[in-house]
Amino acid sequence: TPNHLETYVHDTLASLKQSSPAQTEFYQAAEEVLECLRPLFKRCPHYLEHNIIERIVEPERQIMFRICWVDDNGTAQVNKGYRVQFNSALGPYKGGLRFHSSVTSGTIKFLGFEQIFKNALTGLPIGGGKGGSNFDPKGKSDAEIMRFCQAFMTELYRHIGPTTDVPAGDIGVGAREVGYLYGQYKRITGRYEGILTGKGLDWGGSIGRKEATGYGAVYFAQNMLEARGESIEGKTCLVSGAGNVAIYTVEKLLELGAKPITCTDSGGTLHDADGVDLDLLKQLKEVERVSLENYLETRPNARYIAASDYPEDGHAVWRIEADVAFPCATQNELTAADAQALLKNGVSCISEGANMPSTADAADCFLEAGIAYGPGKAANAGGVATSQLEMAQNSSMEQWPLEKVDEKLKAIMAEIHRQCADTAAEFDAPTNLVLGANIAGFRRVADAMIDQGVV
Ligand code: GLU
Repeated sequence: TPNHLETYVHDTLASLKQSSPAQTEFYQAAEEVLECLRPLFKRCPHYLEHNIIERIVEPERQIMFRICWVDDNGTAQVNKGYRVQFNSALGPYKGGLRFHSSVTSGTIKFLGFEQIFKNALTGLPIGGGKGGSNFDPKGKSDAEIMRFCQAFMTELYRHIGPTTDVPAGDIGVGAREVGYLYGQYKRITGRYEGILTGKGLDWGGSIGRKEATGYGAVYFAQNMLEARGESIEGKTCLVSGAGNVAIYTVEKLLELGAKPITCTDSGGTLHDADGVDLDLLKQLKEVERVSLENYLETRPNARYIAASDYPEDGHAVWRIEADVAFPCATQNELTAADAQALLKNGVSCISEGANMPSTADAADCFLEAGIAYGPGKAANAGGVATSQLEMAQNSSMEQWPLEKVDEKLKAIMAEIHRQCADTAAEFDAPTNLVLGANIAGFRRVADAMIDQGVV
């Protein structure tokens, strides 16, 4: 009944908050999705009759384990490990691994929850999962990274498989870590199979996977701008982060004739008004793995704003004048005050390369202003989509050329944008791609759950 609906979302959220009080990021992600679903439930009450909401907010399985490894001093170290197998209605669990000191069970749960809807939006047969550890890769030697990855896989291997659960990278997990994880899986099981994506190009990886999240976020911005009769060419762009997503966002922007002028790391914000030097950025972050501050040695006209000098209510990078912004660092890196500064400075398009980089209040600012706002679960889906292309290549023992992968990625991003925009229009909120993404993603998962019965 309509009365039921009024209290339904509210009651479900209240019970979530009560059962997982410390999981603030998960709660934030769930609240956004459930709030967006109200108009859908009004039109299609059968989702409520099937209790899909209660079922979808509960992970199918959560694995927590101890990781013991030996550091370079010979001392035993202990970390927490997680894998959340959240929802398999659409296919095997798929989602990355995050190694970062801030990781808790709530972080992984929030990321796994987002992954369900993101993966659904790609239109590909992949369910949602996520994993990781509170291991801090900062300052660790290569040998320590290897031993940690081996220890992590020594537990994880029994929970994954090419048709059951296929992890990939996320923050702190790149090509190097995927290599060490893969080697250990092979050593333990004796099997050479596609149990991870983001692999090296000579041993089962897909050409274009490394670039895919960043490229996809730029394609999504292009789609949003084109829908408004504009183009990315000539646009000045803010990019945050200096990892895999940020680097390939910068690369694609330069290729398309836009001008990325920033990137950020944990120490601060780099601002190069002449445009970020891509080769230098790659050298510092992919090869030397050092602070962005070193950029100034080669390009003294740039400036580096230390994180300690950031405004109290936000981040320096979002206070710089530009046309388009790509938050590609981490969750909640963009506050309401940042959002207001961006709007005041004339930014008219936001494409999220990270997962949930805008706080709920910041997202509300963008939606209220009616600017082109692409939420992470739509705009950064190019990474996981290309992971599925890697799985397809693995199962047929093929390797596709870059042209084929990139063409598919472009088509997938355009289709995600079309779905989000069409669904938003269907529910009388034509510019609200957050609503469009959440309803479109949810519908696909919920319909599959209903088809498969109560399991
Ligand atoms: N960690 C990425 C994401 O947030 C990629 C996951 C994957 O490729 O499985 O979507």
